[in-house]
Amino acid sequence: MSNLSQHLRIHAGFPGGNIIVEEYFADAVKVRQDLSMCSSWWFWWYFEAENLSDQPFTVRFVFTEGAPFGTAGPCANINNTHWHWLGRECVENNTFEFKFTPEIKSCRFAFAIPYLVPDLDSFLRDHPDITRSVLTKSSESRPVDLLHIPSKNGQFAVFLSTRHHASESIANFVLEGLLDCRCQNQGILQDCVDFFAVPFMDVDGAENGDQGKNRTPHDFNQDYGKFIYRSTAAYCELIRRNHARFLLSLDLHCPSHNQSTIFWVESPIRGDLDLLRSALYETQHGQLRYDGKNDISFGIEGNNDSDNNSCARYIQSELKQKNAFTLEIPYAEAHGIRINENRARLFGHDLCHAIEHFASVYNKTSTNIPHN
Ligand SMILES: [Zn+2]
Repeated sequence: MSNLSQHLRIHAGFPGGNIIVEEYFADAVKVRQDLSMCSSWWFWWYFEAENLSDQPFTVRFVFTEGAPFGTAGPCANINNTHWHWLGRECVENNTFEFKFTPEIKSCRFAFAIPYLVPDLDSFLRDHPDITRSVLTKSSESRPVDLLHIPSKNGQFAVFLSTRHHASESIANFVLEGLLDCRCQNQGILQDCVDFFAVPFMDVDGAENGDQGKNRTPHDFNQDYGKFIYRSTAAYCELIRRNHARFLLSLDLHCPSHNQSTIFWVESPIRGDLDLLRSALYETQHGQLRYDGKNDISFGIEGNNDSDNNSCARYIQSELKQKNAFTLEIPYAEAHGIRINENRARLFGHDLCHAIEHFASVYNKTSTNIPHN
């Protein structure tokens, strides 16, 4: 054991935490992300370092399972204040360096900005128009939250989901923005469009700090039609109950660690995705931009029949709703713009405006919503 272990205590003993400490040596500590719940390499980690030293010192965190860093390096939250990206400057191969001063009593480090149930609690305290109920209970008996924003006449219903993959925290900030914008809307959304949202499809995985992606035996977004998890079946039942007024469903994800564009994952059933994405492209105002050039066509980059049990594909093929879509929002940067909580929320506003346009087109062209 090096001296470092006497004044730096690293742990993940809190909701969402994920780290395995292997060894302290000299001015470094070997760690790795916990991959025990999944069948492939993934990159989520989140730990706290408590500083007991009254002297400044520099520590190098050495990851022994690949280089789990995104395009903006790790992010950090000093003394439980706010999250900021450390940048790639501190990263060298599979390591990153951080300088502690005596003023830094504790610092949380993570692959990306975390989002957990208490963050949702806080958001909902500021949004009393959103109704919260329990969609179902998770395997570990946690409530799987269902959020609902009713409209005046309930003509249409929009369905939003995040965290089919437990680590994909940035999607939740986008969801917050979407719901916030919906609450403020005084047009067609307020009049005609109910919003439903499930912010933590895999709430156990999020709270336990799991990777989520490629969970064994299969992850939540490979569970549709198999239904070994309760939330996926309950989500389908919710959509079935609202079949006649289904307008669209959006499943929000974050892509791999080093991807840095916003993109749609296309299905063989196209539905009216072109209407939604052109509305997004034309109406967006925020700093995080969708440029329409990076969507993944069906049949390339692993987007193929192996995804038939995904949320969007199942809703299309089995629930017969053509307008079920998957959108990927990167963890760290979009076209070189750093992602933070507010920028992600503003992108959610942009998405909400795109949905508003989508709803207004449907409202004009049909009294009955067309299905497949
Ligand atoms: Zn995902």
